[in-house]
Amino acid sequence: MLVTTRELIDNAVEKHIGVGAFNVTTLSMLQGIILAAEDVNQGIIIEFATSHETRGIVTLDEIGPVMMQYAERAKVPVAVHLDHGVDLDYLKKAIDIGFTSIMYDGSALPYEENIANTLKAVEMGRKYNVMVEGELGKMAGNTLRNDMIMEERLVKRENYTNPDQAGDFVARTGLDMLACSFGNAHGIYKEPPVLDIELLHEIAEKTSIPLVMHGSSGINEEDYAKVIRNGVRKINYYTYASLAASNAVKGAFASDPVKFWKVHELAVLMREAVREKVRSAITLFSEPQI
Ligand SMILES: [Zn+2]
Repeated sequence: MLVTTRELIDNAVEKHIGVGAFNVTTLSMLQGIILAAEDVNQGIIIEFATSHETRGIVTLDEIGPVMMQYAERAKVPVAVHLDHGVDLDYLKKAIDIGFTSIMYDGSALPYEENIANTLKAVEMGRKYNVMVEGELGKMAGNTLRNDMIMEERLVKRENYTNPDQAGDFVARTGLDMLACSFGNAHGIYKEPPVLDIELLHEIAEKTSIPLVMHGSSGINEEDYAKVIRNGVRKINYYTYASLAASNAVKGAFASDPVKFWKVHELAVLMREAVREKVRSAITLFSEPQI
């Protein structure tokens, strides 16, 4: 059933758990994610990242209504989120489709400009009663800048979120959730990530709002418990689900190239690989951490 993101996040705060937020790029992924949540009977967020439209994969117009339909029909609570929005009109489009939360990512902008735009996104969120996520600090990996250019960022300490600035950012914008940078990165980690949990703890103390971890694939299992214990409530997870799907396809070709010329057979394989990966992620995230 479709629920608001606020409902899921409030529940996560109360139960000391994290909510998995899974990016949708294809129908097989969407099916696998919903089935996984139903398998373990947990609420989830499904989300669409702006960069998947700018990279020519699928548009919000096309996949947004399909995501809404799957959320409504799911046997578990599902909220629908717009990930890494860099344009206010685009955020409005997601709200019009029925999305229950939006992210405005002004992390590539100078601080004051990030505040001014995030404030506008928060005003929009209040008006339409949707939760708003913002970002401060520069998360490593490929990021869509506000001028629609993809930029590769490296893991650098100077890019980590500054706790005092985060406190100021949240106070001045009235933001609902904050994505922060503390050693996490988008995409495949070249080396095992070293998360600065102390910094995360400080950010949580200075902001007092639910925090969001992006780049959550490839994190140590013990680290999930630590970040949840230190204020992370929304956990964005995509890369390893995507990797599981492509590995399933590679394996199929290697084992039976004759059978797997049919694209629908591959779609089923991808769906099931995503389902398995997402199921174990949700299980880890929904373990209470007190
Ligand atoms: Zn992200």
